Amino acid sequence: MRIVLVGPPGAGKGTQATVLAGKLSIPHISTGDLFRANISQGTELGQKAQEYMRGGQLVPDEVTIGMAKDRMSEPDAAGGFLLDGFPRNIAQAEALDGILKEDGEELDAVLDLEVPEEEIVKRIAGRRICRSDSSHVFHVEYSAPKTEGVCDICGGELYQRDDDREETVRKRLAVYHEETEPIIEHYREQGLVTTISALGSVTEVTGRAMAALGKS
Ligand code: AMP
Repeated sequence: MRIVLVGPPGAGKGTQATVLAGKLSIPHISTGDLFRANISQGTELGQKAQEYMRGGQLVPDEVTIGMAKDRMSEPDAAGGFLLDGFPRNIAQAEALDGILKEDGEELDAVLDLEVPEEEIVKRIAGRRICRSDSSHVFHVEYSAPKTEGVCDICGGELYQRDDDREETVRKRLAVYHEETEPIIEHYREQGLVTTISALGSVTEVTGRAMAALGKS
């Protein structure tokens, strides 16, 4: 299956993408994770992305689209993938349509995760991520690790993302409304969108997502 996950920052896209990709046996492709990996490896691409990410802005399309295309052309993605955080504006959605068309492929579904704005800021401000594995995500209140600052799963150090500070979160939300939300309409016209509530436990949201994909 070829799936796009859309939703505001803090909707739990990364968490759901990890679980869903595992259940569906397809790779989870997160452009945010790819940028963060490039930043920690000190690559040129990482250097280009860093200042935009710090400011809560989108990294320019010419950098992002090429990176996403390269990742989608790796062998593990030949049979499908779950995109998390890409596309994030109309130009990227059109580029993705073109990339898929070149290969005679198409998207199967777009899952739109919906969450009230006041919940988003609470979720993100308390979010802590493991330095060793970004799929290990905790929350200081809602899913606190047993030892503060230490990952329960692998013992890695937990940290707060640079762009998870409240001021940057508000900027990221504004960017989401202005630039990313219009892609939902783009995909609605193609009959691909299902909106699901991202409130409740991880398992509940996964259940809704699997049902929307016709997999339960
Ligand atoms: P995320 O991990 O998906 O929340 O992404 C974190 C940050 O990475 C975003 O706020 C953007 O600065 C950048 N980013 C991730 N994906 C994209 C994309 N598709 N287009 C532009 N910037 C992106």
